[in-house]
Amino acid sequence: MPSIRRVRQLRESKPTMEGAGVRLRRAFGFGSGSELDPFLLLDDFRGEHPEDYRAGFPWHPHRGIETITYVLEGLVEHGDSLDNQGTIGPGDVQWMTAGSGIIHEEMPQGNASGRMGGFQLWANLPRSHKMMDPRYRDVKAAEIPEAVLPAGARARVIAGAIAGTEGPVRDVVIDPLYLDVTVPAGTKLEIATPTGHTVFAYVIDGSAAFDLERARQVADRTLVTFDDGAGVSVATEQSGARFLFVAGKPLHEPVAWRGPIVMNTDEELAMAFREFREGTFIRHGRPR
Ligand code: MN
Repeated sequence: MPSIRRVRQLRESKPTMEGAGVRLRRAFGFGSGSELDPFLLLDDFRGEHPEDYRAGFPWHPHRGIETITYVLEGLVEHGDSLDNQGTIGPGDVQWMTAGSGIIHEEMPQGNASGRMGGFQLWANLPRSHKMMDPRYRDVKAAEIPEAVLPAGARARVIAGAIAGTEGPVRDVVIDPLYLDVTVPAGTKLEIATPTGHTVFAYVIDGSAAFDLERARQVADRTLVTFDDGAGVSVATEQSGARFLFVAGKPLHEPVAWRGPIVMNTDEELAMAFREFREGTFIRHGRPR
């Protein structure tokens, strides 16, 4: 009998200011970098007021990580040092591998009623891939398949596979699973997870229990972290639930992290910031 993961911690995301003055909520990030290895950060930028998000995230560099942007409402306009330009719209995902370096801007635009909704996850790259050439996977909403789960639950599959449905983002070192799961009211199910991988859920609507023993219902904006095991149990009561569900293979490497750059050593960090100051940061593509 495979073991169900126990809940390690429940934690509400915390209000934070980022970019040029965007008010968002941070589920985790800028801690030790090891707690949810290989994941570094999860930001929740859902907002109802344009003044909360419109300052955006003007030109900034990244190196050594992947940033994964998932938009639910409104748009994120994106432009970068490789002359890529585009829009991430409702239901779309941008899986950006910064590798050796990109310089980009990310500017949220609310929908017609001024609402903005989305999430950005940072995944670490292993030492062997930190300086790889940058790459993008721009995934449109229609390219993300929906898996049918037991008891009427379903999941949009962004990366990894569940119930025979595979997501469009493939060939990522940490072997990620990234699901957007919807569970109806009064439902119990288990979601299989690879043993040894780090797993977390982040509730984005309704409430659910992820803890078999106490069956404590947790609501919107709660991060749920788990001990190791072969699967996670989910139980809803009167309300259904919607949550992001993410798993990945830990890297077990030293983390040297400053701002938008994450390397293995302080020397590599210092070099990245020196290169950024001196205009030699971009190794691949046209420098700005
Ligand atoms: Mn960025």
